[in-house]
Amino acid sequence: FPQDHIRNFAIIAHIDHGKSTLADRIMEMTSTVSDRESTAQQLDDLAVEKAHGVTVKSKAVRNYYIDDQHDEYQYNLIDTPGHVDFNYEVSRSLSATDGVLLVVDATKGVQAQTVANFRLAKEAGLTIIPIINKIDNQMADIQKTTEQLLELEPTFQTDQILHISAKSGLGVDQVLLAIRDQIPAPAGDIQAPLTALVFDSKFDPYKGVIAQVRIMEGQLSAQTKQVFMASQVASTNKEVGVFTPEPQALQTLRAGDVGYLVTGVKNPDSIKIGDTVTNEIMPAKQPLPGYQEVEPMVYAGLYPKDTDYKEFKTAIEKLALNDAAFHYEPEQSEALGMGFRGGFLGIFHLQIIRERLMTEFGINVLTTMPNSTFKITLKNQNEPVYVENPIQFPDWSKISLVEEPYVHAKITLPNEMLNDIMRLAESRRGILEDLDTLGSMVVATYLMPISEIAYDFFNELKSVSHGFATLSTESADYNYSDLVKLEIAIDYANIDALTIITHRLKAERIAQNMVTKLRDLVPRKLQAMPVQAIVEGRVIARENIPPLRKVAAKGTKVSKKQQQLRRSGQAKVDIELPQAVFDAILDLG
Ligand code: GDP
Ligand code: MG
Repeated sequence: FPQDHIRNFAIIAHIDHGKSTLADRIMEMTSTVSDRESTAQQLDDLAVEKAHGVTVKSKAVRNYYIDDQHDEYQYNLIDTPGHVDFNYEVSRSLSATDGVLLVVDATKGVQAQTVANFRLAKEAGLTIIPIINKIDNQMADIQKTTEQLLELEPTFQTDQILHISAKSGLGVDQVLLAIRDQIPAPAGDIQAPLTALVFDSKFDPYKGVIAQVRIMEGQLSAQTKQVFMASQVASTNKEVGVFTPEPQALQTLRAGDVGYLVTGVKNPDSIKIGDTVTNEIMPAKQPLPGYQEVEPMVYAGLYPKDTDYKEFKTAIEKLALNDAAFHYEPEQSEALGMGFRGGFLGIFHLQIIRERLMTEFGINVLTTMPNSTFKITLKNQNEPVYVENPIQFPDWSKISLVEEPYVHAKITLPNEMLNDIMRLAESRRGILEDLDTLGSMVVATYLMPISEIAYDFFNELKSVSHGFATLSTESADYNYSDLVKLEIAIDYANIDALTIITHRLKAERIAQNMVTKLRDLVPRKLQAMPVQAIVEGRVIARENIPPLRKVAAKGTKVSKKQQQLRRSGQAKVDIELPQAVFDAILDLG
C-alpha cells in the first residue's frame, strides 16, 4: 500500500459524546465491518469495558476507504481509552497516530475531558479535526458548541468544523474526506533500520505475547529476528498482521503501518508497552523517544480467596503484560496468607484489575486498603527508607521524618463550580498553585498528597461537579506530612492486613469508624472480642464484638484472665476477614 495513501488517526472525546458510535459508523462506511456483522460498539471488547462503559485498552483497526475519485486509502483507526485514570494510555496511543478527530456533543458542548484530550493531542503535535456530533438531537446547540471550540483553539476555522450525526451517519462522509485531506500521511523510510513503537500488548495462551505496533521506520515480517530495545529481549517473529477487526496475517508491516506482531516471546513479563522493536541484524541506533515507565500512585495487597497461589500468580503475570501501569510483587500477610502487593494508577484502576481477575480468570480477590509510598527518615540515619506496605512502617519512636508523594492535580471545571471544587480540594489538603481560565472553563492546579487523591477523590469530584470536572495529575516531589500508623487488634491480636497509615488529624475519626464497622462485620465467636485501634502505643478507639450467644451473665465483657493470656502469649489470629471488612474501610475517605 503506498505510504501516501495511509492515514493513522484516533477519535478523542468527553465520555458519551459519541466516540464509539462514530468509530462504528466509520468502520461500517469503509469496508471493514459488514452491516450484518456490525454489533454496537465493536471496539469495546473486554467485559470490564462493557461493564464500565469505558474503553480501557487501546486497539487499532485497519479500514479501507474508497474516496470520491475511486482511490483506495488505508485508514488505521486507533482506539483510545476514555477514563482519566488512563490518560497515560491516551498519550501512548496518540503517539501511534498522525491526527485526531475531536468529537464534541452538540447537546453538552465542550466538557472537561474534551479539554484534557485536546491538550494531549496538541502536545503531541497532531492534526486536530473538530467535529460537532448529535446534530440530529433537538437539544443540539451548534452555535454555542462552535463558540466553545473556537475558545479552545482560536486557530480552528468555523467552516472547518464538521457537523455530524454519528448515530444516523449524517455528515460522516465529510469526516472520511477530512481524514484524507487534513491528516498527513505517515512519514518514515521503508529502507531505514526498523523502529516500531509497541503501544499495546497482550498474552495469548497459544501464541504467547502479541504486541500492537506502529512501524515508524523500516519493515518487519514473520521470521524477522527482532529485539525489544528497552527490555533487551530478542526473538524470532512468528507472524505479523492487522486487525480488521479480526486478526488477519500479512507478509510484511512497513513504515507507516499499524498492526500486530506475534512476538514468539512466551514470558508475559518480558515485553513492555512503550518499548521499541528493532531488527537484530540491522538495529536502529536509538530507541524511539517517549518511553516512560509508568509509576503507580497507590499500592494495595491482593489475596486470592479460593484459588491456589500458583494459578493466581499466573493470572497476575498475564494481566501485568496487558497493562503496563499495573505493577506487582509478592507479599505475605499473617491474616491473609500469600499474595501480592499491587501498584495502581488509582482506585478505579484497582477496581478494574479486580474485575478483570474475576471476569477473565475467574479469580475472586480480596484487596486491602490502598496507600501511597512513604519516605521515612529514621533517627540517626541519613538515608531515607521507602515503604509501600503499612506493615513495614517503622515504630514511631524510631522515626524523625515522614514524607509522602504529592502531585500537581490539574482540575478542569466549569467556572461556576469553582467554589465547591476549592472546598473539596482544601479538605483533601490541597494547596492552590495555579488558576487559569479557558473560556467558560477553569483549570485549577493543586499540590496534593497522592494518598488524598487515591481515596475516592475522583468520584467525589465527579459528584460535586455533576460529572463536569476532570482531573489529570503530574507527579511532584515528596513532602512532609504528619502521618501515623494506625493498627487494629482484634481480641488482642494485631491484624496486619488492617494496618493503615493516615494523617494524624484524621486518625481518631477513622479509628472510631473502623472499630465500629469491624464490630458489625467481623464474624462473631463464642466469646466477646474487643476491637482496638492503636496509634503510637495508645488505644484511641475501642468496641466489643458481641459473642454468638450470651455465655455468662456478664454479657459481652472479656474476662481479665483471657485478656492476660492473650497479652502474654503469642496471640494467634484465627479470624476470618471478609472483603466487606476492607470495602467498609475503603469507604472511610
Ligand atoms: P462514547 O462514550 O464517546 O464512546 O459515546 P457513545 O458512542 O457510546 O455514545 C453515547 C450515547 O450517545 C449513546 O447512547 C449513543 O447512542 C448516543 N449518540 C452517539 N452519537 C449520537 C448522535 O449523533 N445522535 C444522537 N441522538 N445520539 C448519539
Ligand atoms: Mg465508548
